[in-house]
Amino acid sequence: MNCSSNTYREVLARITEALSKAGVPDASSDARILLEEDSGLDYSHLLMQMNEQLPEETAEKLHVHVAQRKKRIPLQQIIGYTEFMGLKFYVNEHVLCPRQDTEVLVEEALKKIKPGMKVLDLCTGSGCIAVSFAKLGFADVTATDISEDALAVARRNAQENGVDVHFFKGDLYNALPEQDRYDMIVSNPPYICTSVIDTLEPEVRDHEPRIALDGTADGLAFYRRIISDSGNYLKECGHLLFEIGYDQGTAVSELLRNNAYEDIQVIKDYSRNDRVVAARFTSQ
Ligand code: GLN
Repeated sequence: MNCSSNTYREVLARITEALSKAGVPDASSDARILLEEDSGLDYSHLLMQMNEQLPEETAEKLHVHVAQRKKRIPLQQIIGYTEFMGLKFYVNEHVLCPRQDTEVLVEEALKKIKPGMKVLDLCTGSGCIAVSFAKLGFADVTATDISEDALAVARRNAQENGVDVHFFKGDLYNALPEQDRYDMIVSNPPYICTSVIDTLEPEVRDHEPRIALDGTADGLAFYRRIISDSGNYLKECGHLLFEIGYDQGTAVSELLRNNAYEDIQVIKDYSRNDRVVAARFTSQ
C-alpha cells in the first residue's frame, strides 16, 4: 500500500474523527455530507469509490469545509443549502436555517389553505414558509422581514423554486404598502428568551442571526405585537398560526383568547413537544 494513500474511506475516517474531537454533534453524518458535497458524489457512488484515491481538488475543498465545521459553523451554511418540505432552500449567515419543527407549522397551514387564498408570513427570514405555501398550496403569498439581507435570501429562494411571493421590508405589518385583509397570517417569530440564547449550541448562538432568535426577556414580545394588530389584517374567521417554543403553548393561547380568537389548538411536533398554535379570528 502506498504510504501517501488517501482513499475516500481513509479520508472519511479522518474527517469524522477531526469533527468528533472538535465536539461537533453528528460528526459522522456531517463528515459524510461534506465528502458527498465536495466530491459531487451521492452516497451510493461514494460507497462504490471507497477504495479509490480522493482527487487533490476535492481534498482541498474538503480541507476548508472541515475547518469551518470544526469552528461550529452550521453545516447548512457551509454547503449553502438545506431541504425543507421537500424543497431546496439557499441559506447563509443572515437567516435562521429552516428547521424540521417548522414543517409542522407548514403542514398545519396547508390543511387549511386553498389555492388563491391570501396568506401573510411575518418574519419570513429565508422565506421557507412563504415559498412552501406558494409552491405546495398555490396560495397568493405576501411576506415581510425587517432584514434586507434576509429578504435577499428569501427572494432568491422564491426564484429558485419558481414561485412569486410579494416581499416587503419592514417591522411586521408596518412593512406592508397598504392595509389589506388576509385569509391567513402565519409567523415563526423570534421566540427565545434573551437569557437562554447564551446556553444554546455554538452553531445557533454564534452563527445564526440573533435578531431571528431573540424574543426579549419572556420570549413573547412578537406574539403580543402580532396578535394585537392582527384584527386589522385578518378577514372574519381568518386563521392565525404560530410556531412556538415547547413551553409557550399556554401563554400564547391565553394571548389569543384575550384577543377575540377562538378554536385555539396547540399542536405537537415529532418529538411530542408543543410547537404550533392555530386559532381563528372573530371580530366579536
Ligand atoms: N420564517 C423563517 C423560518 O421559519 C425565519 C424565522 C425567524 O427568523 N425567526 O425559518
